[in-house]
Amino acid sequence: MRSPRRCSRNGCPRQAVATLTYVYNESTAVVGPLAAFAEPHTYDLCEPHARSLTAPRGWDVVRHEGEFEPPPPTTDDLVALAEAVREAARPAPRPPEDDREQRAHSTGRRGHLRVIPPNL
Ligand SMILES: [Zn+2]
Repeated sequence: MRSPRRCSRNGCPRQAVATLTYVYNESTAVVGPLAAFAEPHTYDLCEPHARSLTAPRGWDVVRHEGEFEPPPPTTDDLVALAEAVREAARPAPRPPEDDREQRAHSTGRRGHLRVIPPNL
């Protein structure tokens, strides 16, 4: 099971801290602490998505009311963390607008030199 658990919502990069389980025969969506194993009809959710989940029409939501504890970091998470730290330590790339302005400026200077007639 030691792969990083991410929220299953489309485009959500957050870490999963809760598991949503659909209990079809009781029309109940159960939002509980992160399950140790992924099972059919279960979806991992980050905390904001776990808190904001609303049930489909006609369904009940049973929500775990305590704190959602993030799972202990896995080796993969630690590697990702180390990479994030290294990333953050790198000098920030120059913002594109800055770059464009600088280029325009030096091009302008070169252009100015070029427009001087050679016979003056
Ligand atoms: Zn999410």
